[in-house]
Amino acid sequence: MKRIDLHYLILMGMGIGLVAGFALHLWGDPKSAGFQQTIWWLDLLGKDVFIGGLKMIIAPLIFASIVTGVTSLPSMTEIGAVGLKTFLYYFSTTGIAVAIGIVAVMIVQPGHRDASQNVREERVAVMDEYRDLYQERTGNDPEAPENRVDYLAFVSQRDGEQISASEFREKFGAMQEAESRGPGELFRQGLLLPILSNPFTALSESPPNTLGIIFFALLTGIACLAVGTAAEPVVGFFRGFNEIMMTITLWLMRLAPVSIGCIIASMIATLGFDALQSLGWYCMTVIGAIGVHVLVILTLVAVVGRMSPFAFLKGIRDAWLIAFTTTSSAATLPVTIHRTKENLKVSPKVADFTLPVGATMNMDGTALYEGVAIIFLIQMYGGLDDVLVSLSGINLFIIFVTAVFASIGAAAVPSAGLITMAIVASAVGLPLHYIYIIYAVDHLLDMFRTSTNVMGDAAGAVIVNRLEEGRLGT
Ligand code: ASP
Repeated sequence: MKRIDLHYLILMGMGIGLVAGFALHLWGDPKSAGFQQTIWWLDLLGKDVFIGGLKMIIAPLIFASIVTGVTSLPSMTEIGAVGLKTFLYYFSTTGIAVAIGIVAVMIVQPGHRDASQNVREERVAVMDEYRDLYQERTGNDPEAPENRVDYLAFVSQRDGEQISASEFREKFGAMQEAESRGPGELFRQGLLLPILSNPFTALSESPPNTLGIIFFALLTGIACLAVGTAAEPVVGFFRGFNEIMMTITLWLMRLAPVSIGCIIASMIATLGFDALQSLGWYCMTVIGAIGVHVLVILTLVAVVGRMSPFAFLKGIRDAWLIAFTTTSSAATLPVTIHRTKENLKVSPKVADFTLPVGATMNMDGTALYEGVAIIFLIQMYGGLDDVLVSLSGINLFIIFVTAVFASIGAAAVPSAGLITMAIVASAVGLPLHYIYIIYAVDHLLDMFRTSTNVMGDAAGAVIVNRLEEGRLGT
């Protein structure tokens, strides 16, 4: 009940933010001190407090959520056929979802639409100001190659990224160096070495080395299963820790009505109607691609699960609706389990195992959304001084892989996908502050992706149940 209340509050906050933002945009004078002061407060309550709070918990939340997900499996020996089929289904459908998203965003090109390009122009104007300011303060030419890294460090500081100038120089120095490397070396430096880094360093880096965290968490979870009884305290610890992280996320979500209202108001006041229009294309791309993915899921249910798609949809409609309104797969889980067993006649042996793991790890909607979002941002901002990333084949591959892992790492709570998007952004080197623009529509898209996540879990249970019915005697 509380979550549904929060949902209405968020909708109210969005509405108020929308009206206030339009009013400020139409009647406010962007140059006046009053206008700037208002934007300062809106950004403080929206971006700084709320988004800052969410960023604060990225690293521990990903670690705890993945270890908990992996250790939800009963044991290495019991996993057997059910575990293998479940994981095969989860990975392949999540991969299909990301691929559909990538194809959709590459076809629709929401980031290249006129409205998006207007938003880009706004950013170009800000960068021009930064360039003048840099020259004025340091006396150095920002265009000169020898000053480039220093200038970009300055830009990052101005944008409020929580990264020190020296860390930034190191990061951008490495990125510049990477430009001259071949794909093999890029794979080694961009994927392999971060994955195998010291987990404590991975957790404490700013932004965190999420690839390293995910890999170490997966390894820890699997090793816990292999160790068995002696690892039980560790498993218990991470379960508790995961709960704590979920609780903190839910506390933060209480700020969401006010903060999301502030983010929307600030965005519309400063960017005007173009931003909404450009986000309109982006939202339509996400929702359209999700629609295509739902058709794929229903086809799998019909062909492999041998169940009528209408019976399937009817059987899980309550869970779908609850997911849509609460935007939390975890909150929906009891209903998903109940309806899957009762209405879809899935054996408890299958449902009790696949659905909790699925709620934590199988998030097709989230994975699809993360891929679309990052590519949209690169389309919109690519080529700016501090956006060195391009949509090359290797980057699309990195986006594909990290979106799959980021969705596995996302907790089953509202807006978790928004947090783990930092994984995909930092993997390709997109500065995190560029993600702000899509926060405003995150709640709306969370409704669609969470309900798809839950539908994907239920479909997985139906399919594994059908494939295992002889063996399990169901
Ligand atoms: N809210 C989603 C879920 O609970 C996760 C996400 O934010 O994408 O499944």
